[in-house]
Amino acid sequence: MAEHAAQTRALVPGSTIGMLGGGQLGRMSALAAANLGYRVHVFCPEQDGPAQQVCATATVAAYEDEAALARFADAVDVVTYEFENVPDATARFLAARRPVRPGPEALRVAQDRIVEKDFINSCGVATAPYRCVDSPAELEAAVAALGRPAVLKSTRLGYDGKGQVKIAPDTDLDKAWRLMGSAHGILEGFVDFDCEISVIVARGIDGEIVPYPAVENRHANHILDTTIAPAAISRAQASEAEGIARALARALDLVGLLAIEMFVARSGAILVNELAPRPHNSGHWTMDACRTSQFEQFIRAVAGLPLGSIERHADAVMKNLIGDEVHSWPAILAEPGAKLHLYGKAEARRGRKMGHVNRLYPLGGAPR
Ligand code: AMP
Repeated sequence: MAEHAAQTRALVPGSTIGMLGGGQLGRMSALAAANLGYRVHVFCPEQDGPAQQVCATATVAAYEDEAALARFADAVDVVTYEFENVPDATARFLAARRPVRPGPEALRVAQDRIVEKDFINSCGVATAPYRCVDSPAELEAAVAALGRPAVLKSTRLGYDGKGQVKIAPDTDLDKAWRLMGSAHGILEGFVDFDCEISVIVARGIDGEIVPYPAVENRHANHILDTTIAPAAISRAQASEAEGIARALARALDLVGLLAIEMFVARSGAILVNELAPRPHNSGHWTMDACRTSQFEQFIRAVAGLPLGSIERHADAVMKNLIGDEVHSWPAILAEPGAKLHLYGKAEARRGRKMGHVNRLYPLGGAPR
């Protein structure tokens, strides 16, 4: 392990960043870390994942394997993660040995949709109306209170629309409860939105906060398909979204990145949907259109370095390459203004994020 630079608390080049999770977010973070002279030691249960392919060292073990976690902690200077569902016991075990950034509070808030929405509202930030529902009877009462349409979600471990059921005027509630598939749910009022946006905000070890501009996200089959940067919203809405991001990052005492997914309601109101204390798919455009990408910014924050300039030198449209879409890579490579990023996954399964392409446009020129 390299020595810490005592005055700045920054990790000196040559230090090792421990990364929990071995997917594409870990891969792109590890590449950014390498550019800053750091080594990344990834810890994940899967062999030959996207991150492992580009990391200096990998531990392949279960997140519950305390002997492996102890060796990992001994081998790294700081711990971070590329997914928010790090088991609580794992985060606490590591936090007793090394700094974990962002800290356990960010994980606690982001892992449970009820805790998350309570936290967001406690910061004076609006969400859709919601009720905690832990039985079919409670679901019935909540639907009576919030009305239809509504959305039933599992409180934990839901992503890309998994564990989610729309409650339409004719939906049978017992069936919806079974489909949701968890003993703990949240019922949310359905937001009639103009568009979905997100802001990714970085907060440094010294409390400096730098939000990227709000971007628009379009989904297909519940999976992010396209991000357009910047979002076509009013100046006032953009600054409100950035203000929300700043407030939430400060309230979490975050060191690292926080992605905030929001709805722009037809009324013009901005409502927060979800938080992720890590790099986010809707920030991939920054790799080619900003002076400092979200991945470099993430590593800077976690390593205790000053944050970088986020100056945007182009508009961008990021398109995820999902499943078979990845086979279009030769055509993308031949396209001027397109930047291809592939994740090294062997099998192009349906719904699997295989890579993405960033298409760049002059400032103010992103197609809508
Ligand atoms: P989530 O897993 O919470 O990010 O939800 C996935 C997607 O479902 C969102 O990006 C929205 O498109 C849609 N969605 C989720 N919650 C709501 C809601 N309360 N009202 C309307 N649409 C929603």
